[in-house]
Amino acid sequence: MNVYDAARMSDLLAKEGYDAAAREEDAELVVLNTCHIREKAAEKIYSELGRLAVLKEERRAQGKSLEIVVAGCVAQAEGELVMRRQRAVDLVVGPQSYHRLPALLKEAREGARVADTDFAAREKFQALPAPTKAQIAARGVSAFVTVQEGCDKFCSFCVVPYTRGAEISRKVESIIEEARRLVDGGVREIVLIGQNVNAYRGEDEAGRSTPLEGLFERLSAFDDLTRLRYTTSHPVDMTEGLIDAHASLEKLAPFLHLPVQSGSDRVLKEMNRRHDARHYLDVVERLRRVRPDIAISSDFIVGFPGETEEDFQATLALIDAVEFASSFFFKYSPRPGTPGAEREDQIDEDTKRDRLARLEARVEAQRRAFNAATVGRTLEVLFEKQGRHDGQIAGKSPYMQAVHVDGDEGEIGRLRPVKIVAAGPNSLSGEIVEAREFA
Ligand code: SAM
Ligand code: SF4
Repeated sequence: MNVYDAARMSDLLAKEGYDAAAREEDAELVVLNTCHIREKAAEKIYSELGRLAVLKEERRAQGKSLEIVVAGCVAQAEGELVMRRQRAVDLVVGPQSYHRLPALLKEAREGARVADTDFAAREKFQALPAPTKAQIAARGVSAFVTVQEGCDKFCSFCVVPYTRGAEISRKVESIIEEARRLVDGGVREIVLIGQNVNAYRGEDEAGRSTPLEGLFERLSAFDDLTRLRYTTSHPVDMTEGLIDAHASLEKLAPFLHLPVQSGSDRVLKEMNRRHDARHYLDVVERLRRVRPDIAISSDFIVGFPGETEEDFQATLALIDAVEFASSFFFKYSPRPGTPGAEREDQIDEDTKRDRLARLEARVEAQRRAFNAATVGRTLEVLFEKQGRHDGQIAGKSPYMQAVHVDGDEGEIGRLRPVKIVAAGPNSLSGEIVEAREFA
């Protein structure tokens, strides 16, 4: 979502006459779009700001200026504190207020110390300018579209409900309009995003509440749009309708990122996840019934307060039962203001590290096996960019795997059948098997 927000902030600033600087040293304005999800991400900002403060002084000595803006969830969570910790910061703007950037910059220039962290998400999307065709083309074949923001789930480890606010869904019409513009600009894959994307319930033109699959149906009708994806979903919001869409909508990719976090019912309850391991396994089973080749990925947290070795073993057992195509895994990071952070039964760092390594070994083995199993198969690859070597192009399989082939740049933006010949640690390689254009 930060990638999407950064693109929208660039669109907004381009209208004000800003251009992207090739190097940071040449910039007159630097916006740090920050993440607060784990402590490491949040703390990184201050070392980055320290560096920028030095750059600002250097520029000042040359008679030039540098404005520093902190945006995103650290801005939301820490507000004015950011400016107190680093005096060089001119403006702090939360994720729901960045549509006001031009006006806020003006205030800052007039000498005010500005921190805008209001929750006015509904206003935001209406106020943002649309990107130009050139901006769309420069960003490539695959584009994110935020359809839903915020979260009402309050998992006990997570800051999102506090930084992104309550769940809101954008109106269908505004999403369709944005998607239309992207496809006209050359986009061939749209990834619908939201902190809780499958909780999406947006109003359509007739005022009816529309679920996520309703958006997919509408978008499927766009001729030049080849592929649809969505992320991130919560297991309790995987409705029958959405599961069935994986069978009925050809453009909906057979891949689902569905974080489970833990395989222990006791830990899941304490995480306030609102589902148990059985529920998760049932959802996976139903998905595989309607779409047997669907690839599933997950997020895992190890070392949540009170997690025992037995709890951790339950997570490993769930991993064995599901066979994930890929996964992200994190050590629990206590976040200020969340219930998990208040607990006294925090897990020590060594145990967290040890569990993370064991979990990583298990999910990485599954990822390698999943990739190896595609060797010899022919997959539809959407080509997105040039590869690392001359004459090479790169794209994604339906299962989110990176695929390289020898091929012409003209294939970028097209969906081609590719015979997979080898699986490396991070990508597959293959050959285009037939010239017929799918897209
Ligand atoms: N909404 C998504 C969901 O319900 O799973 C996830 C959103 S969060 C931005 C992405 C991932 O960060 C989570 O799935 C979780 O695994 C991880 N995460 C969130 N808070 C964390 C914390 N305090 N410590 C470690 N990992 C965390
Ligand atoms: Fe955070 Fe996701 Fe839980 Fe919401 S559902 S609180 S975003 S982990």
